[in-house]
Amino acid sequence: MEEVKNTRVMFKDYIQGYPKVSDMVVTSDTTICLEIPDNIVDQILTKNLYLSCDPYMRGRMNRTLEQIYTTSFIPGRVMSGYGVVKVIETTHPDFKKGDLIWGLTNWEEYSLITNPTKSLIKIQDTNVPLSYYTGILGMPGMTAYAGFYEICKPKKGDKVFVSAASGAVGQIVGQLAKLFGCYVVGSAGSNEKVDLLKNKIGFDEAFNYKEEPDLDAALKRYFPDSIDIYFENVGGKMLDAVLYNMSVHGRIAVCGMVSQYNLNPYDGIQNLIYLILKCIRMEGFLVTDYYHLYPEFLATMLPLIQQGKITYVEDTVEGIENAPAALVGLFSGKNVGKQVVLIARDN
Ligand code: NAP
Repeated sequence: MEEVKNTRVMFKDYIQGYPKVSDMVVTSDTTICLEIPDNIVDQILTKNLYLSCDPYMRGRMNRTLEQIYTTSFIPGRVMSGYGVVKVIETTHPDFKKGDLIWGLTNWEEYSLITNPTKSLIKIQDTNVPLSYYTGILGMPGMTAYAGFYEICKPKKGDKVFVSAASGAVGQIVGQLAKLFGCYVVGSAGSNEKVDLLKNKIGFDEAFNYKEEPDLDAALKRYFPDSIDIYFENVGGKMLDAVLYNMSVHGRIAVCGMVSQYNLNPYDGIQNLIYLILKCIRMEGFLVTDYYHLYPEFLATMLPLIQQGKITYVEDTVEGIENAPAALVGLFSGKNVGKQVVLIARDN
C-alpha cells in the first residue's frame, strides 16, 4: 500500500489575546496510506485542495468556547476548518473516487474522514473556480445570504451599512444589497480595500475606518438621514457609532464582532439605549441554522456569478505551510478579500 508524507498544521495550546503563527506547528513527520482497507466502512480519503481561513477559528483557540456551534481545537492535534477536497478513495456508498466536495476537513494534505455525509456537501457545478466553495458558494456566502435576506429583511431603497465590507462575507452582503435596490456603504481598514469596494465590488460609498478619528461624523457624512440596515461584522466602537445613527425601526444583523475576539474583557457598548429610543431590531444569527437554505442559495448565487452580476475577491496564499500566517492575518486585516489557502490544484 502506498504511503505518502502528510504535512499537517497542529494546534499548540490554548491562547489569550491575539493569535500568533507560533501558536500552530506545521509538521511533515507523519505519513498516510492512500488506500482504505476493505473492512473499514463508510469512510472517505480526501486530497485537500483549498483551506478556508475564518475568524470563528480564533474562538476555537480558547479553552472555553463561547460559540455554541463548534468545538475548541485540541492541543497537539491537527486543526480543522472549512475546505474543498477531492475524494481519492472511498468505502462510503454515497461517494465515489473523483467527487469534489466542500465542508469540514482537517488542516493537512490528506484526510481520512468518517461520517462524511454529516459535514461535507458534494459540489455539483464546477464551472466556477473551485475555491469559491470556501467563500461565495460556501459558508461565508450562506452567511451573507441568510443574514441579509432572513435577518435584515431588506426593503428596496433601504440605506445599508456593512462593516468589514471587503471581507469574505461583507463583499457579498454589499452586492446582494445593491442588486436588491439599496444604497450601500462599507467600511474597511485600508485605502486599497476602499478603492476595491467602490471601483470593483460596486458599493455606492466606502471609507477607511482607521483614518476616521470620529466614526459618528464619518457615518453622518454617508448617512445624513440615518442607517436603515447595519450588517455587523466588527462590534466595538463601530457598533456604538452605528447605534447612534440608526433609523427608527432600523435593523441590525449581528453576524460577527471580529474586533472583540482577541479582547478580554470585551469593549463596553455605550449606546444600547438607542435600541429602545429608535425601536431598533438587533438580532444575532449563526449560519449553521440556515444550511437548509443551501439549495435555494445555490440556485440564486450561481446564475449571478455566471452572468457576471456578482463578483468575488479572493486573497490566495499557496502552500499549507503558509496557512498559520494567513489565519493570523485576518486579525490585522492583512487579507484583501476572502482568505484562501491553496494546497493542491485539481488535476
Ligand atoms: P473577513 O472580513 O474576510 O476577515 C476579517 C476582517 O476583519 C479583516 O480583513 C479586517 O478587515 C477585519 N478586522 C480584523 N480586526 C478588526 C478590528 N479590530 N476592527 C475592525 N475590523 C477588523 O472575515 P469574514 O469571514 O468575512 O467574517 C466577517 C465577520 O463575520 C466576522 O466577524 C466573522 O466572525 C463573522 N461570521 C459570522 C458567521 C455567523 O454564522 N454568524 C459566519 C461567518 C462569519 P479590515 O481591514 O476592514 O479591518
